Formats: sequence, structure tokens, C-alpha cells
Amino acid sequence: MNQFAMNFMHVLSGKEVSHSVYEDLKSRIDFLKKKGVVPSLAVILVGDDPASNVYVQSKSRQFKKMGLHSDTITFPEETSEAGLASFIEELNQDDTFHGILVQLPLPKQIDEKRIIRAISPEKDVDGFHPENLGLLTAGNPRFIPCTPKGILRIFSHYDISPSGKHIVILGRSNIVGRPMSILLSLKNDSGNGTVTLCHSRTADLKSFTKKADILVVALGSPELIDESYLKDGVVIVDVGINRVSDDSETRYKLVGDVHWESIQTIASYATPVPGGVGPMTIAMLVENTIEAAEQITKLS
Ligand code: NAD
Repeated sequence: MNQFAMNFMHVLSGKEVSHSVYEDLKSRIDFLKKKGVVPSLAVILVGDDPASNVYVQSKSRQFKKMGLHSDTITFPEETSEAGLASFIEELNQDDTFHGILVQLPLPKQIDEKRIIRAISPEKDVDGFHPENLGLLTAGNPRFIPCTPKGILRIFSHYDISPSGKHIVILGRSNIVGRPMSILLSLKNDSGNGTVTLCHSRTADLKSFTKKADILVVALGSPELIDESYLKDGVVIVDVGINRVSDDSETRYKLVGDVHWESIQTIASYATPVPGGVGPMTIAMLVENTIEAAEQITKLS
């Protein structure tokens, strides 16, 4: 049993933590507004992927709620890479916007890496630009990618320290698993963990997950992780958001990568889906946009 082991599982509510983040951000927004600055985000959406549409709508709803500005610019599916890159160049020069976000995935004719490199690093509120990933790796981040940043905030809110723990991360994507692995192994208060990063080529996944004190799951495989993968008392962060069909009016429901019912008697803490990592990703996007506005205007 590790220090987290208990008889019942605690829910790590990203919804609750995001509310406290929004409360804390209010004074920074007020300060900027008094100086005539409204933090503003440009969101670029290419094509009509239904999941991307939902994410973009919930981001812009939250910006509105906080009295911030966001514009969604929609491009057709057949948009060219060069056309998109030159539009981003215009946004880089446009003082109206402090942050630029390109909703991923992009259609296959567009090279995502090239588009991310086209965004000015000072406006890259997703933190995906190679310059920003380099700064993060060096332990001196400018913008921390929103999902990993949100997970660190959940840990600090619930007093869960990664220091000295064995943290196993499932999934090595550039937006979740890889930056998470770097952040949790940095020599600082939110890091100091011993990290194992697993992926689709990992042999015998369970031999790693069963040794995890903290397990971060970002696979995109509905309810794959059940109690047979876990050790007693593990802390689970479920990043997955998967649509599975059901009998409801919408014909689908959202589930994570973790089988919620089966972890109840073995995990000590876990994030639910929905209401866990998802709301934190949006809260961190709001925070990063405010940081971008503060840095660009040199007001803070
Ligand atoms: P991705 O598809 O880019 O990467 C998935 C990773 O999982 C890859 O590294 C792959 O090697 C690994 N993988 C897949 N199946 C595996 C298996 N059976 N065993 C071992 N490794 C395996 O995914 P992503 O963009 O990181 O997203 C992962 C999930 O998280 C998706 O469900 C996505 O919708 C969700 N997501 C949620 C948020 C949020 O805010 N909650 C943010 C980003 C992504």
C-alpha cells in the first residue's frame, strides 16, 4: 500500500478546481481591462469534425462567460496548407489577438507541424510550438500545454505530490503524454517524479501500470483500463474522451479510457469523465491567454 491507499475512492473534480481557477483569474482580467486590454483569442477551425466543433464551442462559451474576447475563424475542409499558414501570419501581426489556437486534428493535406511552427511563439497559447516545447523541456516554460497544465493544477489543489512517486503515463502524444512526462520529471515542486512513458509499442503494459503510484491515461481507447491494470491505492488521471453509442436521445455518451465502476475499490483518487481533465483544459487555455495578453502588453 502506498501513501494514497484508502478504503474508498475520492473523486478529483476538475469542474470544482476550474471554478477556483476562474475565481483567481478575475482580478488579473480586471487589472488588464482597467488598462484597456481585453485578452483575446483567435481560434482556427478547419473542416467540420463534430468533436472539434463541440470543443471550440465550449472554449468560446467560457471566454464569453469570463468577459474575454474570442473569435472562431472557420475554414473549409479543402483549405491548403499555404493558405492557412499565410492567414496565421496575418494573425501573428494583428494586435487584436493575444493568443492563436489551431484546433487539431487538421485535414490530411495539411502538415500539422508546419502549421504549429507558423504560429508566433508569443501567441502560442496551446504551447505546442517547438520553441515553447524547448523552453518547457529546459524547465523554463513560456506556455505549458493546457491539458498537462490542468493535470498539475488538479494535483496541487488536492495536495497530491508527484515527488518521489512512480508515475506511469499511457500515450506519448505531443499534446498530452509527452509534455506530461517532461513536466512530471522536472526538478521542481510540481515535478520530481520517476516517470515511465508507455505507448502502442510498449510490451506488457500491465507490468508497468501495476507498479504505478500515479497513472495518467491518454490513449483514446474507451474504458480499456480496469482494475486488473492497477495496484492498490493508485491515483488515476483519465484524460480520454471517447464517444460510444448508447440508447439516449443523442445516441452516444462520453466515456474515458478508464472503466469507472471497476476502479472504485482499488484506486484512492480518480478524475471522472466528464468533469475531470476536460474542464481543466479549458481553464488553462483561459489562463494562458491572459498570460499572453500580460506578456505582450507588458502589463501584470
Ligand atoms: P493520440 O491518438 O495522439 O495518442 C494516443 C497515444 O496512445 C499514442 O501515443 C499511442 O501510441 C498510445 N496508445 C494507443 N493505444 C494504446 C494501447 N492499447 N497501449 C499502449 N499505448 C496505446 O491521442 P491524444 O491526442 O493524446 O488523446 C488521447 C485521448 O485523450 C483521446 O481520447 C482524446 O480525445 C483525449 N484528450 C482529452 C483532452 C481533455 O481535455 N480531456 C485533451 C486532449 C486529448
